[in-house]
Amino acid sequence: MQTDSDPIIAIATAPGRGGIGVIRVSGPDLHGWAESLCRQPLQPRHAHFLAFRDVRGETLDEGLVLFFPGPHSYTGEDVLELQGHGGPAVLRRVLEDCLARGADIGLRLAQPGEFTQRAFLNDRMDLAQAEAVADLIEASSAAAAKSAMASLSGAFSAEVDALSQRIVKLRMLVEATLDFPEEEIDFLEKYQASARLHEVQASLERVLQTARQGRVLREGLYVVLAGQPNVGKSSLLNALAGEDVAIVTPIAGTTRDRVVQQIHLEGVPLHIVDTAGLREATDAVERIGIERSWAEIGRAQVIVHLQDARQPDDPLDADIVRRLPVGVPVLRVWNKVDLLASSPSVPGSSEGEARRTEGHDAALATPPIGSCDENPVLISARTGTGLDELRTRLLGIAGWTPGAESPWLARERHIQALEEAGEHLRVAAGYAAQGDQILDLFAEELRLAHESLCRITGQFTSDDLLGEIFSSFCIGK
Ligand code: GDP
Repeated sequence: MQTDSDPIIAIATAPGRGGIGVIRVSGPDLHGWAESLCRQPLQPRHAHFLAFRDVRGETLDEGLVLFFPGPHSYTGEDVLELQGHGGPAVLRRVLEDCLARGADIGLRLAQPGEFTQRAFLNDRMDLAQAEAVADLIEASSAAAAKSAMASLSGAFSAEVDALSQRIVKLRMLVEATLDFPEEEIDFLEKYQASARLHEVQASLERVLQTARQGRVLREGLYVVLAGQPNVGKSSLLNALAGEDVAIVTPIAGTTRDRVVQQIHLEGVPLHIVDTAGLREATDAVERIGIERSWAEIGRAQVIVHLQDARQPDDPLDADIVRRLPVGVPVLRVWNKVDLLASSPSVPGSSEGEARRTEGHDAALATPPIGSCDENPVLISARTGTGLDELRTRLLGIAGWTPGAESPWLARERHIQALEEAGEHLRVAAGYAAQGDQILDLFAEELRLAHESLCRITGQFTSDDLLGEIFSSFCIGK
């Protein structure tokens, strides 16, 4: 049976070859064992250079050893770090030797995230900070890394705590009034409860807005390029990615399966999916590709419906629009505007008229299909015209304010908890408006709002939730 107090060990550095490799051990009482492993006294927090020798005395590696006595360590327990050479075979030999020699004290391999979970359980950090450790490691852009670091330093937790404290203060006042009902005071009026509550609501709304921005930065947006074959979906993916990730040919039906590419716009990750062109398939493989396209479209957070700017009112596009899922934002994009000058069928144009191809000209054109009220973005995947406009529109749909920084990262579960707290405060405000007779209901809503906020930092959390959060970490962290 594994327990939270078993000594644990793991290779903390990434698999593969590197300049150094770190093995980390954590446990409640490691001092004696660590000194016998190293065959010498270990001064706390000092780097000792020594040979890592196995039981028989054979040198497996050499490097630095550091011992951090608890509670002043990453996990809050005693921690031993062995910093040797960063090769997979040499690290494995040292790890296996440690495990063999740690059998007496019950040393076992750590689970993913177990070091950080212990840091949380031993109050070295709260849950939002522990999540930020994983987010910092996983950050795929400088902006995301910067915000994850701010969360790790406690910037987000401090905002949440400040909200909690204001709610707690209000709760104390109302609970005291409920405890002494004989003292006939007009609670709501005396303590200006409604005004205080409105202030908390306004602060919570500000935190929620920032958290939403932080969520976009962490999670990005799942964008699916949909449209008929040959309208330029693969070319657009390549143009956005700045490299040839998808095959581009003039032969319709070339993209048989989905191609996913992650790009960053202002640090926001966009997962862009190129799909097989939507049409009546002639062969079985293409038919499967098209079925997968529709499955991707079903998962999309944003659908970019790409059309050929020369045939914007193609009835086949009207069919596609009819089948698009309800409630998912659709960005209409007309491609190949570089060919417009020679095309006779451009809407809103007259014979021989020179046509400009900038995105804002879209307003002049007649939308091809009635279901979208947004103007289409006019682009050329070939020349790059209109791509900046398209990027801005995509960021807008993601909820990202251009130029704005996100002070900290946030996860979906944080947003949910903040929204829940907001809802309880809204209900509380409704009770407050009805006067002092239902103070107990008012108090209960405040309690629930407080509880929702506490879930973010981990004061109230189930083991299931902790398991879910920490299992997504890498081993050794
Ligand atoms: P998909 O089937 O929708 O993925 O379309 P592709 O990206 O494979 O493009 C089909 C053809 O259209 C290729 O020959 C591309 O070079 C061409 N094409 C794509 N975008 C543009 C564009 O903006 N301008 C022009 N002139 N040709 C384009």
